[in-house]
Amino acid sequence: MARFTLPRDLYHGKGALAELKNLTGKKAVVVVGGGSMKRFGFLDKAVNYLKEAGMEVALFENVEPDPSVDTVMKGAKMMQEFGPDWIVAMGGGSPIDAAKAMWVFYEYPDTSFEDLITPFSFPTLRTKAHFCAIPSTSGTATEVTAFSVITDYNKGIKYPLADFNITPDVAIVDPELAETMPAKLTAHTGMDALTHAIEAYVSTMHCDYTDPLALHAIKMIHNDLKKSYDGDMDARDRMHNAQCLAGMAFSNALLGIVHSMAHKTGAAYSGGHIVHGCANAMYLPRVIQYNAKVESAAVRYAEIADFIQLGGNTVEEKVAALVAEIKAMNEALNIPKCIKDYEGGIIDEKEFMDKLSQVATLAIGDACTGSNPRIPSQEDMEKLLKACYYGEDVDF
Ligand code: FE
Repeated sequence: MARFTLPRDLYHGKGALAELKNLTGKKAVVVVGGGSMKRFGFLDKAVNYLKEAGMEVALFENVEPDPSVDTVMKGAKMMQEFGPDWIVAMGGGSPIDAAKAMWVFYEYPDTSFEDLITPFSFPTLRTKAHFCAIPSTSGTATEVTAFSVITDYNKGIKYPLADFNITPDVAIVDPELAETMPAKLTAHTGMDALTHAIEAYVSTMHCDYTDPLALHAIKMIHNDLKKSYDGDMDARDRMHNAQCLAGMAFSNALLGIVHSMAHKTGAAYSGGHIVHGCANAMYLPRVIQYNAKVESAAVRYAEIADFIQLGGNTVEEKVAALVAEIKAMNEALNIPKCIKDYEGGIIDEKEFMDKLSQVATLAIGDACTGSNPRIPSQEDMEKLLKACYYGEDVDF
Protein backbone atom coordinates (compact mmCIF):
# COMPACT_ATOMS: atom_id res chain seq x y z
CA MET A 1 0.00 0.00 0.00
CA ALA A 2 1.20 3.51 -0.76
CA ARG A 3 -0.23 6.95 -0.17
CA PHE A 4 -0.38 9.95 -2.52
CA THR A 5 -1.25 13.29 -0.91
CA LEU A 6 -1.48 16.79 -2.36
CA PRO A 7 -3.20 20.05 -1.33
CA ARG A 8 -7.00 19.93 -1.67
CA ASP A 9 -6.99 23.01 -3.93
CA LEU A 10 -4.32 24.53 -6.12
CA TYR A 11 -4.87 27.89 -7.84
CA HIS A 12 -2.39 28.76 -10.57
CA GLY A 13 -1.80 31.42 -13.18
CA LYS A 14 -1.35 35.18 -13.06
CA GLY A 15 -3.60 36.85 -10.55
CA ALA A 16 -4.28 33.61 -8.63
CA LEU A 17 -3.32 35.48 -5.45
CA ALA A 18 -6.82 37.03 -5.54
CA GLU A 19 -8.25 33.62 -4.58
CA LEU A 20 -7.41 34.60 -1.00
CA LYS A 21 -10.63 36.60 -0.94
CA ASN A 22 -12.59 33.36 -1.36
CA LEU A 23 -11.20 31.66 1.76
CA THR A 24 -13.77 31.13 4.48
CA GLY A 25 -12.74 31.99 8.01
CA LYS A 26 -12.57 34.55 10.81
CA LYS A 27 -8.90 35.18 11.50
CA ALA A 28 -5.75 34.76 9.42
CA VAL A 29 -2.07 35.01 10.30
CA VAL A 30 0.16 35.88 7.35
CA VAL A 31 3.73 34.58 7.72
CA VAL A 32 6.39 36.22 5.52
CA GLY A 33 10.17 36.56 5.22
CA GLY A 34 12.56 39.47 5.13
CA GLY A 35 10.74 42.01 3.01
CA SER A 36 10.66 41.25 -0.74
CA MET A 37 6.95 40.40 -0.61
CA LYS A 38 6.32 43.71 1.17
CA ARG A 39 8.60 45.67 -1.16
CA PHE A 40 6.89 44.38 -4.29
CA GLY A 41 3.42 45.02 -2.84
CA PHE A 42 2.29 41.39 -2.63
CA LEU A 43 1.98 41.42 1.16
CA ASP A 44 -0.43 44.38 1.07
CA LYS A 45 -2.42 42.71 -1.69
CA ALA A 46 -2.69 39.47 0.30
CA VAL A 47 -3.78 41.27 3.47
CA ASN A 48 -6.42 43.23 1.55
CA TYR A 49 -7.82 40.10 -0.11
CA LEU A 50 -8.09 38.40 3.30
CA LYS A 51 -9.88 41.46 4.69
CA GLU A 52 -12.24 41.32 1.69
CA ALA A 53 -12.94 37.74 2.79
CA GLY A 54 -14.11 39.23 6.09
CA MET A 55 -11.13 38.08 8.12
CA GLU A 56 -9.20 39.81 10.85
CA VAL A 57 -5.52 39.68 9.82
CA ALA A 58 -2.29 39.58 11.87
CA LEU A 59 1.24 39.53 10.45
CA PHE A 60 4.26 37.49 11.44
CA GLU A 61 7.18 39.04 9.54
CA ASN A 62 10.93 38.62 9.13
CA VAL A 63 11.28 34.84 9.07
CA GLU A 64 15.01 34.37 8.35
CA PRO A 65 16.56 32.12 5.67
CA ASP A 66 17.01 28.63 7.20
CA PRO A 67 14.36 29.38 9.86
CA SER A 68 15.23 28.69 13.49
CA VAL A 69 13.48 26.82 16.29
CA ASP A 70 13.22 30.20 18.10
CA THR A 71 11.32 31.79 15.20
CA VAL A 72 8.98 28.81 15.04
CA MET A 73 8.25 29.00 18.76
CA LYS A 74 7.68 32.78 18.60
CA GLY A 75 5.23 32.32 15.72
CA ALA A 76 3.40 29.49 17.48
CA LYS A 77 3.02 31.61 20.63
CA MET A 78 1.68 34.53 18.61
CA MET A 79 -0.82 32.15 16.97
CA GLN A 80 -1.89 30.75 20.33
CA GLU A 81 -2.70 34.29 21.48
CA PHE A 82 -4.39 35.43 18.24
CA GLY A 83 -6.26 32.19 17.45
CA PRO A 84 -6.25 32.11 13.62
CA ASP A 85 -8.32 29.60 11.65
CA TRP A 86 -6.12 30.25 8.59
CA ILE A 87 -2.33 30.30 8.40
CA VAL A 88 -1.24 31.96 5.16
CA ALA A 89 2.48 31.62 4.40
CA MET A 90 4.02 33.50 1.52
CA GLY A 91 7.55 33.91 0.15
CA GLY A 92 10.49 31.59 -0.49
CA GLY A 93 10.83 28.19 1.10
CA SER A 94 11.82 29.56 4.50
CA PRO A 95 8.67 31.41 5.66
CA ILE A 96 6.49 28.56 4.37
CA ASP A 97 8.61 25.91 6.11
CA ALA A 98 8.61 27.96 9.32
CA ALA A 99 4.83 28.43 9.17
CA LYS A 100 4.30 24.68 8.75
CA ALA A 101 6.20 24.04 11.99
CA MET A 102 4.42 26.94 13.76
CA TRP A 103 1.15 25.27 12.77
CA VAL A 104 2.12 22.06 14.59
CA PHE A 105 3.13 23.90 17.79
CA TYR A 106 0.06 26.14 17.57
CA GLU A 107 -2.22 23.10 17.57
CA TYR A 108 -0.03 21.06 19.96
CA PRO A 109 1.81 23.47 22.31
CA ASP A 110 3.09 20.63 24.49
CA THR A 111 4.89 18.76 21.72
CA SER A 112 8.64 19.10 21.08
CA PHE A 113 10.94 18.95 18.03
CA GLU A 114 12.29 15.65 19.34
CA ASP A 115 8.71 14.27 19.15
CA LEU A 116 8.50 15.28 15.50
CA ILE A 117 11.72 13.89 14.08
CA THR A 118 10.28 10.44 13.41
CA PRO A 119 8.89 10.83 9.89
CA PHE A 120 5.14 10.48 9.40
CA SER A 121 4.35 10.38 13.13
CA PHE A 122 2.72 13.79 13.60
CA PRO A 123 -0.48 14.36 15.57
CA THR A 124 -3.58 15.15 13.48
CA LEU A 125 -3.63 18.80 12.41
CA ARG A 126 -6.53 21.05 11.28
CA THR A 127 -8.22 21.04 14.68
CA LYS A 128 -7.59 24.82 14.87
CA ALA A 129 -6.46 26.09 11.48
CA HIS A 130 -6.08 25.37 7.78
CA PHE A 131 -2.99 26.26 5.81
CA CYS A 132 -2.50 28.21 2.57
CA ALA A 133 0.96 28.45 0.96
CA ILE A 134 2.00 31.00 -1.68
CA PRO A 135 5.52 30.51 -3.11
CA SER A 136 7.62 33.38 -4.52
CA THR A 137 10.55 31.25 -5.67
CA SER A 138 10.47 28.41 -8.20
CA GLY A 139 12.27 25.54 -6.52
CA THR A 140 11.45 24.05 -3.13
CA ALA A 141 7.76 23.46 -3.94
CA THR A 142 7.09 23.48 -0.20
CA GLU A 143 3.57 24.75 -1.11
CA VAL A 144 2.64 21.18 -2.09
CA THR A 145 5.01 19.02 -0.03
CA ALA A 146 4.88 17.20 3.28
CA PHE A 147 8.27 18.61 4.31
CA SER A 148 9.77 21.44 6.33
CA VAL A 149 13.34 22.03 7.48
CA ILE A 150 13.93 23.88 10.76
CA THR A 151 17.37 24.65 12.24
CA ASP A 152 18.32 24.57 15.93
CA TYR A 153 21.25 26.98 15.93
CA ASN A 154 22.09 26.29 19.59
CA LYS A 155 22.50 22.58 19.00
CA GLY A 156 23.73 22.93 15.39
CA ILE A 157 21.02 20.52 14.19
CA LYS A 158 18.69 20.68 11.22
CA TYR A 159 15.31 19.05 11.84
CA PRO A 160 13.85 17.69 8.60
CA LEU A 161 10.14 17.42 9.40
CA ALA A 162 8.11 15.07 7.21
CA ASP A 163 4.43 14.27 7.50
CA PHE A 164 1.39 14.49 5.20
CA ASN A 165 -0.34 16.44 8.00
CA ILE A 166 1.78 19.47 7.01
CA THR A 167 0.95 19.23 3.31
CA PRO A 168 -0.89 22.56 2.83
CA ASP A 169 -4.66 22.66 2.24
CA VAL A 170 -4.46 25.35 -0.42
CA ALA A 171 -1.54 26.27 -2.69
CA ILE A 172 -1.59 29.49 -4.71
CA VAL A 173 0.99 29.26 -7.50
CA ASP A 174 0.91 32.78 -8.93
CA PRO A 175 3.85 33.37 -11.31
CA GLU A 176 3.79 37.14 -10.77
CA LEU A 177 5.47 36.56 -7.39
CA ALA A 178 8.32 34.59 -8.98
CA GLU A 179 9.01 37.30 -11.54
CA THR A 180 10.79 39.20 -8.76
CA MET A 181 13.59 36.58 -8.44
CA PRO A 182 17.16 37.67 -9.32
CA ALA A 183 18.97 35.57 -11.98
CA LYS A 184 21.25 33.63 -9.63
CA LEU A 185 18.33 32.59 -7.41
CA THR A 186 16.44 31.58 -10.57
CA ALA A 187 19.35 29.31 -11.58
CA HIS A 188 19.81 27.71 -8.16
CA THR A 189 16.13 27.13 -7.40
CA GLY A 190 15.55 25.85 -10.95
CA MET A 191 18.30 23.24 -10.66
CA ASP A 192 16.90 22.27 -7.23
CA ALA A 193 13.57 21.61 -8.96
CA LEU A 194 15.25 19.58 -11.73
CA THR A 195 17.00 17.51 -9.06
CA HIS A 196 13.66 16.94 -7.28
CA ALA A 197 12.09 15.61 -10.47
CA ILE A 198 15.02 13.38 -11.48
CA GLU A 199 15.50 11.96 -7.97
CA ALA A 200 11.75 11.31 -7.68
CA TYR A 201 11.72 9.52 -11.05
CA VAL A 202 14.49 7.07 -10.07
CA SER A 203 13.49 6.80 -6.38
CA THR A 204 12.68 3.34 -5.05
CA MET A 205 9.35 4.88 -3.93
CA HIS A 206 8.33 6.12 -7.39
CA CYS A 207 4.95 4.97 -8.68
CA ASP A 208 2.46 5.44 -11.52
CA TYR A 209 1.12 8.56 -9.80
CA THR A 210 4.49 10.29 -9.41
CA ASP A 211 6.17 9.29 -12.71
CA PRO A 212 4.15 11.51 -15.09
CA LEU A 213 4.56 14.53 -12.81
CA ALA A 214 8.33 14.00 -12.64
CA LEU A 215 8.78 13.49 -16.38
CA HIS A 216 6.69 16.48 -17.38
CA ALA A 217 8.49 18.67 -14.85
CA ILE A 218 11.87 17.56 -16.27
CA LYS A 219 10.75 18.38 -19.81
CA MET A 220 9.47 21.83 -18.80
CA ILE A 221 12.57 22.70 -16.78
CA HIS A 222 14.82 21.50 -19.60
CA ASN A 223 12.96 23.78 -22.02
CA ASP A 224 12.50 26.84 -19.84
CA LEU A 225 15.12 27.22 -17.11
CA LYS A 226 17.81 28.86 -19.24
CA LYS A 227 15.25 31.19 -20.84
CA SER A 228 13.91 32.10 -17.41
CA TYR A 229 17.47 32.77 -16.21
CA ASP A 230 17.97 35.08 -19.20
CA GLY A 231 14.89 37.09 -18.22
CA ASP A 232 12.16 35.58 -20.43
CA MET A 233 9.13 36.09 -18.19
CA ASP A 234 6.89 33.64 -20.05
CA ALA A 235 9.49 30.96 -19.37
CA ARG A 236 9.72 32.20 -15.76
CA ASP A 237 5.97 31.74 -15.41
CA ARG A 238 6.12 28.18 -16.76
CA MET A 239 9.02 27.37 -14.42
CA HIS A 240 6.76 28.25 -11.49
CA ASN A 241 4.38 25.47 -12.56
CA ALA A 242 7.21 23.08 -13.42
CA GLN A 243 8.82 23.29 -9.97
CA CYS A 244 5.40 22.70 -8.41
CA LEU A 245 4.86 19.54 -10.50
CA ALA A 246 8.30 18.34 -9.42
CA GLY A 247 7.24 18.97 -5.81
CA MET A 248 4.07 16.91 -6.23
CA ALA A 249 6.25 14.06 -7.48
CA PHE A 250 8.91 14.15 -4.77
CA SER A 251 6.54 14.80 -1.89
CA ASN A 252 5.15 11.35 -2.64
CA ALA A 253 8.12 9.51 -4.23
CA LEU A 254 10.79 11.03 -1.95
CA LEU A 255 14.33 11.92 -3.06
CA GLY A 256 17.84 10.45 -3.21
CA ILE A 257 21.48 10.99 -2.27
CA VAL A 258 21.99 14.23 -4.23
CA HIS A 259 19.83 15.72 -1.50
CA SER A 260 21.52 13.69 1.26
CA MET A 261 24.87 15.14 0.19
CA ALA A 262 23.51 18.69 -0.27
CA HIS A 263 21.93 18.60 3.20
CA LYS A 264 25.08 17.47 4.96
CA THR A 265 27.62 19.58 3.05
CA GLY A 266 25.42 22.70 3.16
CA ALA A 267 26.59 24.12 6.47
CA ALA A 268 29.59 21.89 7.25
CA TYR A 269 32.47 24.22 6.36
CA SER A 270 33.82 27.40 7.93
CA GLY A 271 34.28 29.17 4.54
CA GLY A 272 30.52 29.57 4.07
CA HIS A 273 27.30 27.74 3.25
CA ILE A 274 26.93 25.86 -0.03
CA VAL A 275 23.54 27.05 -1.31
CA HIS A 276 21.11 24.11 -1.56
CA GLY A 277 20.16 24.37 -5.24
CA CYS A 278 23.74 25.01 -6.33
CA ALA A 279 24.97 21.99 -4.34
CA ASN A 280 22.34 19.79 -6.02
CA ALA A 281 23.32 21.09 -9.46
CA MET A 282 27.01 20.25 -8.87
CA TYR A 283 26.37 16.78 -7.39
CA LEU A 284 23.58 15.57 -9.71
CA PRO A 285 25.75 14.50 -12.73
CA ARG A 286 28.09 12.48 -10.47
CA VAL A 287 25.26 10.79 -8.58
CA ILE A 288 23.63 9.79 -11.88
CA GLN A 289 26.91 8.17 -12.95
CA TYR A 290 27.08 6.36 -9.59
CA ASN A 291 23.45 5.22 -9.48
CA ALA A 292 23.52 4.12 -13.13
CA LYS A 293 25.74 1.18 -12.16
CA VAL A 294 22.45 -0.33 -10.99
CA GLU A 295 20.79 -1.58 -14.18
CA SER A 296 17.22 -0.70 -13.18
CA ALA A 297 18.25 2.88 -12.33
CA ALA A 298 20.20 3.22 -15.60
CA VAL A 299 17.05 2.26 -17.50
CA ARG A 300 15.08 4.98 -15.69
CA TYR A 301 17.71 7.64 -16.48
CA ALA A 302 17.64 6.47 -20.11
CA GLU A 303 13.86 6.95 -20.13
CA ILE A 304 14.39 10.55 -18.99
CA ALA A 305 16.96 11.08 -21.76
CA ASP A 306 14.51 9.69 -24.31
CA PHE A 307 11.67 11.84 -22.98
CA ILE A 308 13.68 15.02 -23.57
CA GLN A 309 15.06 13.64 -26.85
CA LEU A 310 18.76 13.62 -26.06
CA GLY A 311 19.54 10.81 -28.51
CA GLY A 312 21.74 7.73 -28.03
CA ASN A 313 21.14 4.08 -28.94
CA THR A 314 22.06 2.07 -25.85
CA VAL A 315 21.09 2.65 -22.23
CA GLU A 316 24.69 3.55 -21.52
CA GLU A 317 24.78 6.19 -24.26
CA LYS A 318 21.49 7.67 -23.09
CA VAL A 319 22.70 7.95 -19.48
CA ALA A 320 25.89 9.63 -20.73
CA ALA A 321 23.78 12.05 -22.80
CA LEU A 322 21.73 12.97 -19.72
CA VAL A 323 24.86 13.59 -17.64
CA ALA A 324 26.35 15.74 -20.43
CA GLU A 325 23.10 17.72 -20.76
CA ILE A 326 22.97 18.53 -17.04
CA LYS A 327 26.60 19.63 -17.10
CA ALA A 328 25.80 21.87 -20.09
CA MET A 329 22.78 23.35 -18.27
CA ASN A 330 24.98 24.13 -15.26
CA GLU A 331 27.52 25.86 -17.46
CA ALA A 332 24.84 27.91 -19.21
CA LEU A 333 23.51 28.97 -15.78
CA ASN A 334 26.98 29.95 -14.51
CA ILE A 335 26.90 27.25 -11.85
CA PRO A 336 30.40 26.06 -10.85
CA LYS A 337 31.54 22.57 -11.89
CA CYS A 338 32.54 21.51 -8.39
CA ILE A 339 32.84 22.47 -4.74
CA LYS A 340 36.50 23.53 -5.24
CA ASP A 341 35.33 26.26 -7.64
CA TYR A 342 32.33 27.30 -5.52
CA GLU A 343 32.20 31.08 -4.91
CA GLY A 344 35.85 31.53 -5.84
CA GLY A 345 37.09 28.66 -3.68
CA ILE A 346 35.64 29.48 -0.25
CA ILE A 347 35.45 25.78 0.73
CA ASP A 348 38.98 24.95 1.90
CA GLU A 349 40.46 21.74 0.48
CA LYS A 350 42.12 20.64 3.71
CA GLU A 351 39.00 21.26 5.80
CA PHE A 352 36.93 19.37 3.24
CA MET A 353 39.26 16.34 3.41
CA ASP A 354 39.51 16.49 7.22
CA LYS A 355 35.72 16.34 7.48
CA LEU A 356 35.24 13.87 4.60
CA SER A 357 34.60 10.76 6.65
CA GLN A 358 32.28 12.53 9.11
CA VAL A 359 30.25 14.27 6.38
CA ALA A 360 30.02 10.99 4.43
CA THR A 361 28.64 9.18 7.50
CA LEU A 362 26.06 11.93 8.04
CA ALA A 363 25.04 11.90 4.35
CA ILE A 364 24.49 8.13 4.46
CA GLY A 365 22.29 8.65 7.53
CA ASP A 366 20.23 11.41 5.88
CA ALA A 367 16.49 10.79 5.48
CA CYS A 368 16.81 10.99 1.66
CA THR A 369 19.27 8.07 1.36
CA GLY A 370 16.69 5.34 1.96
CA SER A 371 14.85 5.92 -1.33
CA ASN A 372 17.99 6.23 -3.49
CA PRO A 373 18.25 3.41 -6.06
CA ARG A 374 21.75 2.46 -4.83
CA ILE A 375 22.70 2.43 -1.15
CA PRO A 376 26.24 3.79 -0.79
CA SER A 377 28.90 2.31 1.50
CA GLN A 378 31.06 4.65 3.58
CA GLU A 379 33.86 4.22 1.02
CA ASP A 380 31.51 4.98 -1.91
CA MET A 381 30.16 8.11 -0.25
CA GLU A 382 33.65 9.42 0.50
CA LYS A 383 34.66 8.82 -3.13
CA LEU A 384 31.47 10.53 -4.37
CA LEU A 385 32.03 13.59 -2.20
CA LYS A 386 35.65 13.80 -3.38
CA ALA A 387 34.49 13.59 -7.00
CA CYS A 388 32.09 16.48 -6.27
CA TYR A 389 34.91 18.49 -4.70
CA TYR A 390 37.26 18.12 -7.68
CA GLY A 391 34.61 17.88 -10.41
CA GLU A 392 35.66 14.40 -11.53
CA ASP A 393 33.52 11.88 -13.34
CA VAL A 394 32.41 8.83 -11.33
CA ASP A 395 33.04 5.28 -12.53
CA PHE A 396 32.63 2.92 -9.58
FE1 FE B 1 15.69 20.43 -2.75
